Amino acid sequence: MSKATETLLEIDLTALAHNYRYLTAKLKPTTKVLAVVKAYGYGSDAVAMAKELVPLGVDYFAVAYASEGEVLRNAAIETPILVLHPLPANFEPIINRCLEPSIYSRKMLTDFIAFAEGKQQKQYPIHLKFNTGLNRLGFTESDISFIAETVAKTNSVVVKSAFSHLAASEDLSEKPFTQQQLDRFRSISEKLSAKLGYKPLLHTLNTSGIVNYPEAQYDMVRTGIGLQGFGNSDEENKHLIPIATLKTVISQIHTIEAGETVGYNRAFSASEVTKTATLPIGHADGISRAFGNGKGWVTIHGRKAPIVGNVCMDMIMVDISEITCEEGDEVIVFGKNPTAEKLSESINSIPYELLTAVSQRVKRVVCRK
Ligand SMILES: *Cc1c(COP(=O)(O)O)cnc(C)c1O
Repeated sequence: MSKATETLLEIDLTALAHNYRYLTAKLKPTTKVLAVVKAYGYGSDAVAMAKELVPLGVDYFAVAYASEGEVLRNAAIETPILVLHPLPANFEPIINRCLEPSIYSRKMLTDFIAFAEGKQQKQYPIHLKFNTGLNRLGFTESDISFIAETVAKTNSVVVKSAFSHLAASEDLSEKPFTQQQLDRFRSISEKLSAKLGYKPLLHTLNTSGIVNYPEAQYDMVRTGIGLQGFGNSDEENKHLIPIATLKTVISQIHTIEAGETVGYNRAFSASEVTKTATLPIGHADGISRAFGNGKGWVTIHGRKAPIVGNVCMDMIMVDISEITCEEGDEVIVFGKNPTAEKLSESINSIPYELLTAVSQRVKRVVCRK
C-alpha cells in the first residue's frame, strides 16, 4: 500500500464488493438492491462506488439531491437513480438526466405531473414516499385516494415504487415501534396497489433493517452505511469491512517544555516535556473541533496519539511523547483501526456524520486491497 504523503481518503473497492456480497447474501435471490450513494457516497466517492457496484448487479442507486444524480449520469452510469429529496427547482435536471423523483406530498405530485406533461413525458417513473413514523418526508395513508385519482388522470407518470423509511431499525429496544411502522407500510402498500390497479415495487429496509427485519424485504432494500462497512451492531461489523481510510502525514515535530502551551487559545498547557506532531488536517477537512483537547486521536505506527489543544482549520497537533516517529511518517485518522464508528463515538457522533464530513479538499484515492 502506498504511503500517504498528504491527507488522503483511500477507498477500497475490494472491501466495497465484499460488503455488497455479504449484505445481498442475506436477501432472497429475487430481492432487488438499491445502493444509497448520497453525499458523495457517504463521503467516499460515489462514482467509483457506482462503477464497482454496476457489474456486481446492483439494481438501483439513490442520491439525496438531483445534482448528485447528474454527477453519476455524467460518469456514464445508466442504472436507474432515485432522488430522495427532489425539489421543484430541480425538476428540469431530473427529467433531462432520467433521474427518478421521490414524491412525498400532494403538491409535489401535482407539480411534478404538470411539469412532466409540459415536457411531453409518457409513463415517467416516480416513487411515492410514505411517512410511517419518521415524520420527515412522506404521504400518509389518507393521501392514497388523492394519489390514485391524480395518477389515473394522466399518462405522464407511472408509480414505479412505493416506500417508507424506518426511524430506529438498528435499535432493538424500539422493536415495537418499528413493527408498527412495518404494519403501517403493509397496510399502505396493499391499499395503494388496489387503488392504482397495479403493484409498484415496495421497499422499506435500510442496512439495519436488512439485518433485523429480513421478513420485510419486499421487492427491494436500500443500503448505504452497510456498503461503507458498518452494520450498526458489533456482530455485523465483524463481517463488514470499512471501505474508507483517512490518512495523513507528520509535517513537523516539536518538543514542548513544561509550562508552554500549544495551539489557539493556549488550550493545551504542558505539565511536563511533551513531544507533539503537527498534521495537515483540520476542521476544514472534517475533523470537528469537538475532537480537540484529547477527545479524539490518530494512530501512528499502530499507537494512539491524542489530539492536543484545539483543532485548527487546517491542522491538528497530537501528542507523540510515547511514540517513536519522524516527519514524513504516515498517520491513520480512521479506517480499519480505529474505525470511523469508534472515533465518532468519542464525540457522541456516528460514522454517518464523520464519513460525510470529510471535505472535498481531501483527495480521494481508489484502491483494491
Ligand atoms: C440514507 C437513506 C438510506 C440508507 O440508510 P443506511 O442506514 O445508510 O443503510 C435508506 N433510505 C433512505 C430513505 C435514506 O435516506
